[in-house]
Amino acid sequence: MYKKTSFARLRDLPPANSDKRKDFLLYKKVHLRLTLLCTGITVVIMVIMSFCYLYVSEKGLYRNQFQAFRNDINTISTNLEQQSVISMEWLSKMEAQGNYLFFVLDNGTPFLFNQLNNSGSQAQRNFLFQESQEAYAALHDVSSSVLHGTSGTLTHTEYEFTSPSMDTNYFAAKIVTGKNDSILEITVLTSMRNLEAQINAQRVRFLLIDLAAVAALTVFSWMFTGRLLKPIIETQKKQALFIASASHELRTPLAVILSAAECCKQAPAEKKGNFINIICQEGMRVSSLVDDMLILSQSDNHQFPIRKGATELDTLLMNAYEAFGSLTQEKSISLSIQLPDEALPPCSADPERISQVISILLHNAISYTPTYGKITLALSRIKEKFLITVTDNGIGIPDAEKEKIFDRFYRAEKSRSGKDHFGLGLSIAYEIVKAHGGSISVQDAQGGGSCFTVILQTVPPYT
Ligand code: ADP
Repeated sequence: MYKKTSFARLRDLPPANSDKRKDFLLYKKVHLRLTLLCTGITVVIMVIMSFCYLYVSEKGLYRNQFQAFRNDINTISTNLEQQSVISMEWLSKMEAQGNYLFFVLDNGTPFLFNQLNNSGSQAQRNFLFQESQEAYAALHDVSSSVLHGTSGTLTHTEYEFTSPSMDTNYFAAKIVTGKNDSILEITVLTSMRNLEAQINAQRVRFLLIDLAAVAALTVFSWMFTGRLLKPIIETQKKQALFIASASHELRTPLAVILSAAECCKQAPAEKKGNFINIICQEGMRVSSLVDDMLILSQSDNHQFPIRKGATELDTLLMNAYEAFGSLTQEKSISLSIQLPDEALPPCSADPERISQVISILLHNAISYTPTYGKITLALSRIKEKFLITVTDNGIGIPDAEKEKIFDRFYRAEKSRSGKDHFGLGLSIAYEIVKAHGGSISVQDAQGGGSCFTVILQTVPPYT
């Protein structure tokens, strides 16, 4: 079965300053840019989403913590209301329970508890005492109205407080209550360190996840864009090769035409005819080459005109058999045809194009079969498939060449081919058969020579 030959692997670095090296470097540059673009866009989206998530999550954490603090202050306030006397034991217990710091003012005078409480070092106590005073002062500035408690009433307010001296954040609450003709002002403080540690840990976790995702995305994008670019690069290489081969093939007949025209100018009248014949012949060659190239270019651009209709393949084969009869006779080659006995259903195909394929195969068979050789044109049907075979007992095709002969401008051995062989016939046949949803392949014929098989569907996948 025919398979397209693959190009040299892009990983193999071509020699410096060569065109291939430049192409390779260009490919790498484009590959890198595409990778960066893909990764960049995805990373930006991922980072924005991470930030959004972190923002919402941190706000939620803060809200929950503040709500928990409020609930605790509510409980403390309720406890306070139920007690007629505030004892130091009670204050100590409350502090220890909620990891709080209390600062109590009794009618504006610091409560003895503030000095007596001895948990932690003295320096720590002094510091916390100072913080409590600052928190007290802060709220005094902000909403002094809530501080005017009177006997029998209790007010409390919660707020966030940042110590200006230590730059530490706290949840703070001010409870004001009137008891036994004295006004108690209690400042409750709890550090937001735990919350901040939790938020920081979450940020670090997200940073690590994002970094891992960036690494994975870069690798994925590199592989993905590499796969994406490969067919484009290969097509570009094929086109470059096609143009180079076409120019090469055109150069010879054009050179002959120019030199014949030059000779014709100086030749005597009776010899001019020879040169004009040469010019006509070479002109025809150029014209046929240009026609072939046009067909292939149309096929590449998906503009290959295929006009399908109900086609009787046996009639096409008979026509070809008759058309090539004289050519085979000239070379003393025997041409035979084998058609199935039963009537075949029509095939949905473009009769002109299929005739073109049969002509290419017959033309090749005649070209590569020596005098007194034998060529057989046959049609058969196996299940849902039509098989057209062209078998000759000519020079045959070595196994190593069997795949390559369908490539454009490929000739198995240039010396074996005549002047009219550009190496485009089989690539045109391949494109036509492909456009019909069929396949074309070559095998060795029994007893030597080649056997080309074209398979067409009786009920094609297209309509
Ligand atoms: P060309 O115009 O050179 O025949 P093709 O594309 O038709 O171009 O064929 C490509 C090459 O395949 C030929 O150059 C020839 O070497 C080989 N080839 C094709 N048909 C035959 C055949 N029937 N027998 C031997 N070699 C063949």
